[in-house]
Amino acid sequence: MIQLYMPLNFIGSSYREIKQGLIDVEQMFTLLKVNAEIKDKPGAKPLHVGPAEVVFENVSFAYDPARPILKNLSLRVPPGKTVAIVGPSGAGKSTISRLLYRFYDVNGGRILIDGQDISQVTQTSLRAAIGMVPQDTVLFNDTIRYNIRYGRPDATDEEVVAAARMAQINDFVMSLPKGYDALVGERGLKLSGGEKQRVSIARTILKGPPILILDEATSALDSFTEHQIQAALRKVSENRTTLVIAHRLSTVVDADEIIVLERGQVAERGTHDELLAENGIYAAMWNRQRQVDQAREILKEAEKEG
Ligand code: ADP
Ligand code: MG
Repeated sequence: MIQLYMPLNFIGSSYREIKQGLIDVEQMFTLLKVNAEIKDKPGAKPLHVGPAEVVFENVSFAYDPARPILKNLSLRVPPGKTVAIVGPSGAGKSTISRLLYRFYDVNGGRILIDGQDISQVTQTSLRAAIGMVPQDTVLFNDTIRYNIRYGRPDATDEEVVAAARMAQINDFVMSLPKGYDALVGERGLKLSGGEKQRVSIARTILKGPPILILDEATSALDSFTEHQIQAALRKVSENRTTLVIAHRLSTVVDADEIIVLERGQVAERGTHDELLAENGIYAAMWNRQRQVDQAREILKEAEKEG
């Protein structure tokens, strides 16, 4: 499901290109089926993005009615601020990002952007306002340049390269015989998870949307590259309303608010310092990660010496 993010977006804006066969026919049918559930309401108006405040108001959601995933979830990302969501795998973190992008409609409550219920606005305008770096990126069967430029089709080649630089993918692209014209995707070059993630980050940097969703956006990267990209992402998210889902807590320390999600409910919320002082779930997660990091350091030192 996660893998369908980009192609779904694709259907919204350029059906013509799908007909030209850029994605597999089989895949296309799957996508259309998924997408059919979410339609523009009759007379839906475009979203008017102002300062870009995101509000979840008592949101409930289930993929399967027998199994509630989000239960009465409320959160607010003030304009230009960053809210981080952490918590165990399966807690519902990615579901939150899917609902904001409106891959599904909520079963209860509302999601508002600058006071407008996202289920009442056109999908095109909603998705134009949001940049998403998903957990798993699927690239189009096209060139690297196309895949990055998809973020903003009128961008110049120079802007594409500048975004690629920020996303730490330019050197890799330049090492390919065909450079930015190299074909990727199912029928082209198979990129690693980390490379795909960086293409996706470059695309989002180029798009420069008012609202940003980063879903474990750097999880597929080694720690050195992750460190470098974090810096780029921090720059992109500056003054943009950002929802960041993170597994490595070091990346959320600076967030304006951290929400610990457990089984679809808010278990704790506050700043990093507040949550450490609370000495609850977050503090335990933090200490555990610190121990792991320290153990890793000691091993590395031992390897150097041995
Ligand atoms: P997280 O990102 O916190 O790991 P998710 O939001 O991806 O968790 O998933 C929350 C729960 O919803 C999980 O139990 C997962 O198995 C389930 N789930 C996710 N996607 C689907 C789907 N498309 N259909 C049914 N269940 C799903
Ligand atoms: Mg997830």
